[in-house]
Amino acid sequence: ISFAFLIIFSCSQPEKEKSTKNGVDLRVDSLLSLMTLEEKVGQLNQYSLGSEFTGPGNKNGQDSIRYRQLISGQVGSVLNLLGAENTRKMQELVVENTRLGIPLLFAYDVIHGYETMFPVPLAESSSWNLNLMQKTAQAAAAESAASGLHWTFAPMIDVTVDARWGRVMEGAGEDPYLHAEIAKARINGFQGDDLGHNKTIAATAKHFAGYGYAESGKDYNSVNINQYVLHNHILPPFKAAVEANAASFMNAFNDINATPATANKYLLQDILREKWKYDGLVVSDWNSIGELVNHGVSQELKDAAKKAVIAGSEIDMEATAYVQFLSDLVKEGEIEEAVIDKAVRHVLKLKFELGLFDDPYKYSDTSREKEIVGNPIHHDLAEEIAKESIVLLKNENGLLPIKGSKNIAVIGPLAKDKDTPLGNWRAQAVENSAISLFEGLENTLPNSVNLQYAEGVKLSVGPNNFFQEQVINEDDRSGFEEAKNLAKNSGLVIMALGETAYMSGEGRSRAAIGLPGLQKELLKEIHAINPNIVLVLMNGRPLELSWEDENIPAIVEAWHLGQRAGTAIAETLTGKNNPSAKLTMSFPRHVGQLPIYYNHKVTGRPSTGPGQVFYSHYTDIDNSPLYPFGYGLSYSTFEYGELALSGESMTEDGTITASIVIKNTSDIVGQEIVQLYIQDLVAEETPMVKSLKAFEKVEIKAGESVKVEFKINKEMLSYYKSNGEWTLEKGQFRVYVGKNSTVKQYKEFKLR
Ligand code: BGC
Repeated sequence: ISFAFLIIFSCSQPEKEKSTKNGVDLRVDSLLSLMTLEEKVGQLNQYSLGSEFTGPGNKNGQDSIRYRQLISGQVGSVLNLLGAENTRKMQELVVENTRLGIPLLFAYDVIHGYETMFPVPLAESSSWNLNLMQKTAQAAAAESAASGLHWTFAPMIDVTVDARWGRVMEGAGEDPYLHAEIAKARINGFQGDDLGHNKTIAATAKHFAGYGYAESGKDYNSVNINQYVLHNHILPPFKAAVEANAASFMNAFNDINATPATANKYLLQDILREKWKYDGLVVSDWNSIGELVNHGVSQELKDAAKKAVIAGSEIDMEATAYVQFLSDLVKEGEIEEAVIDKAVRHVLKLKFELGLFDDPYKYSDTSREKEIVGNPIHHDLAEEIAKESIVLLKNENGLLPIKGSKNIAVIGPLAKDKDTPLGNWRAQAVENSAISLFEGLENTLPNSVNLQYAEGVKLSVGPNNFFQEQVINEDDRSGFEEAKNLAKNSGLVIMALGETAYMSGEGRSRAAIGLPGLQKELLKEIHAINPNIVLVLMNGRPLELSWEDENIPAIVEAWHLGQRAGTAIAETLTGKNNPSAKLTMSFPRHVGQLPIYYNHKVTGRPSTGPGQVFYSHYTDIDNSPLYPFGYGLSYSTFEYGELALSGESMTEDGTITASIVIKNTSDIVGQEIVQLYIQDLVAEETPMVKSLKAFEKVEIKAGESVKVEFKINKEMLSYYKSNGEWTLEKGQFRVYVGKNSTVKQYKEFKLR
């Protein structure tokens, strides 16, 4: 019997005790007491490893430092290794060779699917369907867990107000309340009720904090925000993540108000640990401990290690700072061993909770992997949520749903693209495996329709992948003529334009956010020949679409919708699916309006009417966004009745009910997302013009009415003061209920 086995055995507790938190804590304590300082530090070291040490016949890696560290217990977790067989072999290497046999954690960025690709998170958020979002996270977790993964670096819950930032595609948009609700749904989906039965994986709330406010929307840029913004806009989803028991937090690359997030005691200690009592694990972002040197707050890596660990960054992802320096720092008296112990406890706790000490291989199961990964049920789910994520932005001249056209031209670089819909951040996605728009249309339209295709223009030239900057085609117009000829001879033109998968995502900030390359030129030239255009957009961020909105009669926001994108879009264009999604990020009229968001503050100079000069505005562009937060059309039409409140005043412990009747005045069944916003009319700190506090997605049959009720309580009337205090102030409040954030209808009541 090996020592490793003895440890695992002696740490096993009776079933009943094991399931309690206390049971895990006892096992953690007993293991920790056996560990050397170096072994402890090893648990805090995370590497990105492929199968170089375990792949067939590949012994080359075995001379490397990393290999030696791996087999001597100096690595606690691994990211970027995929597959049941690979993870099993790597686990074996560590469990069999290290003194204590502590199993590794395998982590990956499972952002919107493992092999089955669901819509990118920003797209999914437009569905406002928490139940479906929970299900897609659950399916992604099931696929991941079957192929050896224990831990995903998702969900990304960075509230963001600037569409130039490429990573807006990974989150849920600009609203803190909706973002928090989605955070909980995704965490519950990934983790389930209980980790440890190898069907779910640990989630990570990232990036803590402020990353979505990168100045000028430029990725990795500094974040300069005030405390009001931090507490009211940025932190609520993270607080929700704590409440949902997110197993881990990841800190952010950015500096926030002059302290990098990775070494930020205020965030990691004062807020996360002390105020929120978080007891999970904190992982750094990729080399973000090393980047403390780049930030200029540490002279060298050793100091970076010290600052990060003292602040509360517990696992060092890829910087090698901890494995190189933590033991020395303890021996030199620079940090207390208790700091290391605390971090190691969190790592071990997660390993126990995942059941890895009972069976280190329970996640790496090739037969389950075969059965679960890419399961058709998951593809069906991808189609279901894709249909609910499509936002109908404009529909004039009765163009949609498509009817009666005999000759339809499908034009554009994304029309037959089977890869772009898979989006950025893929795990085991099979390249080019999405159903393209063209395929979707072929499968959906009757044979009598003559469907023809022209690419029109190439969007990018050269390689198209995660690791390289996209080279946008700025001069090859050779496909224009063919496309124009086709448009001339067609009754209807469907144009598929937008961004490829890798034009949004990490490192993909853009200063101009219109249609990239020559696409808009092509669109204009086609429009001059045949204005009967349905514009289908595939992109990972809000785009600037002022010209398109003015000239194109029908516009469909189809994002990067995942595996069954083409089916979902085609069934929406033909009316088999009635669109119901609404935007979770404002679309600007012009990039110069950024950052733009609906829940801004009241200024001292609002507009009072025409002819005015000295109020807060631009002289050349309207203040409003082109498409506001919460906006989206349907083939049904919904009429809102009069808003009613159950009273004119409430006490702190009371509630008021807001109710409204909504009628579907069309002849088809549809879903409407009913939104409730509240405005605090006078507060000690300048209030926002309104904030989303509740919503409901209701299905209403043709010609029928539904009454929607919302209970307003004191939580919905409170806000964070700049000192971080959750505050309720008496006074007058305004309640709005409507179809998007520009809702005008309101009623007021008093909090006594
Ligand atoms: C990203 C993280 C991600 C990590 C590991 C970093 O570049 O910022 O979101 O989890 O890489 O892949």
